[in-house]
Amino acid sequence: MGYTDQTRAMYREILDGLKEAGIYKEERYIHSPQAADIEVEFPEGSSLKKVINICANNYLGLSSHPEVIKAAHEGLDSHGYGMSSVRFICGTQDIHRKLEHMLTEFLGTEDTILFPSCLDANSGVFEAILTKDDVMISDRLVHASLIDGIRLCSAMHDTYKHSDMEHLESKLQLHSDRRLKLVITDGVFSMDGDTAKLDKMVELCEKYNAMLLVDDSHASGFIGKTGRGTHEKYNVMGKIDVITTTFGKGLGGASGGCVSGRKELVEMCRQKARPYLFSNTIAPPVVAGVIRVLEILSATTERRDKLEKNTIFWRENLQKAGFIIKEGDTPIVPIMLFNARLSQNFSRDLYDEGIYATGFFFPVVPQGQARIRTQISAGHELHHLEKALDAFTKVGKKYNILGKTKQEIIDMYGM
Ligand SMILES: *Cc1c(COP(=O)(O)O)cnc(C)c1O
Repeated sequence: MGYTDQTRAMYREILDGLKEAGIYKEERYIHSPQAADIEVEFPEGSSLKKVINICANNYLGLSSHPEVIKAAHEGLDSHGYGMSSVRFICGTQDIHRKLEHMLTEFLGTEDTILFPSCLDANSGVFEAILTKDDVMISDRLVHASLIDGIRLCSAMHDTYKHSDMEHLESKLQLHSDRRLKLVITDGVFSMDGDTAKLDKMVELCEKYNAMLLVDDSHASGFIGKTGRGTHEKYNVMGKIDVITTTFGKGLGGASGGCVSGRKELVEMCRQKARPYLFSNTIAPPVVAGVIRVLEILSATTERRDKLEKNTIFWRENLQKAGFIIKEGDTPIVPIMLFNARLSQNFSRDLYDEGIYATGFFFPVVPQGQARIRTQISAGHELHHLEKALDAFTKVGKKYNILGKTKQEIIDMYGM
């Protein structure tokens, strides 16, 4: 009754506005498991199309790995489907604690606590370990879930310019009188694929007596020479006070996340973090799957090595073809198109060529920085990447952007 025609019209107007602005998100339905080759229904009701997926977080190609699927089946048989409880009431199995121990070992920390997701880990961690006497100092480009967690925490909040170490230092000086100082960053930033300068950050945190929290969701399993994460790449393993990460990306892609770090901080989360206390425990088959993922990654670096090789091939050849990409060395490779509509048209044409890669534009990235974000996987074979490269080149030619400068592309298409 309260949902009147007027209310309906109000929402309709907002939703139509999103469509007109070209920022309405449409989903494509995948009928197959997640992998390099997928079968997609798009638009809704159309017949299935076989395409190469080049925009999943499936960095290590483990989302549908036979051994992980087998482990999940076995976990289902031995430990059941669901626990119908949060952890502290009656939702903790031996395998939950086993996985926490394995993550502690893998990440090189003191202890680990599982969360239903990394978004939940980030929502709960700050309020569990800080009070209004403390300060949180975050990079301006941190992930949305960290921003949510910061909002839910009573500590004071300040930011520093993206990866600007001088600015961070000035903020550490400014807030030197606070009881605790916590610096907050992503390990790998998801939109540009750049990494936080963790060596410098650890140095600054030691100098100013601050703690450091790193969200390594886009790094765990493959960044660093044995895939432990951004802290391994920068040689600061054991020096990060809090690492949060997800199992929903490189580590099998199902769901779940964790807070890993100093023993007392993890213990504080177990006592106080609300998403841990008030949301259901991770399902046993998923726990068994992540355990298998960590066993695979601890036994061999084969998959992260292959990912590295694939990434180098992809970055080098895109540049050779004349695209402007964001420099870096992570498997997140943004191809810059600057104009929002161009990024959408480009993505649609790629799809016609059998390549699934989504366009990103404002507000997901800053105005005038529209792009196609590609994400390389160890599940890609050379033939996948070659076919994708051909498609990108063909579409790039169509829009006449190959070998062009940023300014030339903007002159043709606008910001
Ligand atoms: C994906 C992501 C998350 C969310 O992880 P979920 O486990 O899917 O909730 C959190 N932080 C960062 C940096 C991410 O990229």
